[in-house]
Amino acid sequence: MESLLVNDTVKAVFARIMELEQVQRGLSFIEADQDRAIAEQNEMVVIEAPTFAEQARAEDYCQRLQDLGLQDVHIDRHGNVLGKLPGKGQGPTVLLEAHLDTVFPFGTNVTPVEKDGKIYAPGICDDTRGLAANLSVIRAFLETGIETEGDIIFAGTVAEEGMGGMAGMKALLADHPEIKATISIDGAGCDTIVYEGTGIRNYEVTYTGPGGHAYGAFGTPSPLHAAARAIAKLSDMRPPTSPKTTFTVSLIEGGHQIHAIAQQATFKINMRSDDPKELDKLEAQAIALFEAGAREENARWGKDAICVQYERILDVPAGTQPVDSVIVQAAWQATEAVGVTPRLVPGGCTNTNMPISMGIPAVTLGRGGKEGGVHSLGEWFDPEGTYRCPQKSFLLLLALSGVYGVTRPLIE
Ligand SMILES: [Zn+2]
Repeated sequence: MESLLVNDTVKAVFARIMELEQVQRGLSFIEADQDRAIAEQNEMVVIEAPTFAEQARAEDYCQRLQDLGLQDVHIDRHGNVLGKLPGKGQGPTVLLEAHLDTVFPFGTNVTPVEKDGKIYAPGICDDTRGLAANLSVIRAFLETGIETEGDIIFAGTVAEEGMGGMAGMKALLADHPEIKATISIDGAGCDTIVYEGTGIRNYEVTYTGPGGHAYGAFGTPSPLHAAARAIAKLSDMRPPTSPKTTFTVSLIEGGHQIHAIAQQATFKINMRSDDPKELDKLEAQAIALFEAGAREENARWGKDAICVQYERILDVPAGTQPVDSVIVQAAWQATEAVGVTPRLVPGGCTNTNMPISMGIPAVTLGRGGKEGGVHSLGEWFDPEGTYRCPQKSFLLLLALSGVYGVTRPLIE
């Protein structure tokens, strides 16, 4: 995707917003606020927050939102942190969020180390940077006193990564039907706009059988062989390249002894697609092959000894919205307004999956700065120019929600 045509309404709203003295002051404020936001990022990264165990970081973030003076600051029953900046008019409620959880288990050395202008620490980018950037956005609103038509909710969400499957975002939206648009800050770069949601389905497949001595019980069907037969068949699946649809058997274990016919074998398979229908098709095909593995192993030995059980252990809905939807156009315009050439990213597995699968306009925007080694112990962040991320969020929130008495909200 080269570029996006932005319609006249969106252009006019941004032109009007950019003329406002408070907006210009807000943008300068955010640039000057960069060092403070990075100090906060360094403070938060040491609060470990593996998926499903984000509580300590949530409490810290809750305190930060309270100290800033947002309204209704609380941790919800799912563990998400929320705070509100009330609007003055009748505009829509818009959410700006980043996720609290990281992929690192407790005990990981998360102490930030600064070297050659970069900060090294597991989790320093993903998504601690998003949390910190959004604090800068809140300060810009409070510093300038600019008022919006609709309410803005700021949040730190739980359970985005891995088997969390974006459950925090899903629950937050279910509890807040008043939210009419969402902005998530996640992913590298300042230019990226994610507007689609790649669906994910993970299965755990387990084969069991009687087992026995490798020599003495020869002739007994093997769960390991059944799993291997299934995996060989799965390997030959040919999903479409467009819409992008993928799969991999990512984990396998089984057997207990070199001189024994196994009693159990388990594998896990990850399937993804940008299109919900293709994901359904791939899933149906895979399930048939899980069963074929057991059936063919039993047939090989003429004994009905192997059982197969499978369980869907993760289901993240796929979804999409038109590339020319207002929120994508507005995100494009906001990115250009901070001097960055925007880039539309096809697909994506971010918190944006949840709103767009529910029909709520949503984008995920990059965190700004430069980054590398994300999800590895060598994760690093180079803050140069990262203030453009909160600048962009500030402008996009104003455009979507509407500047009170000045611009109509871009979202209904
Ligand atoms: Zn992330």
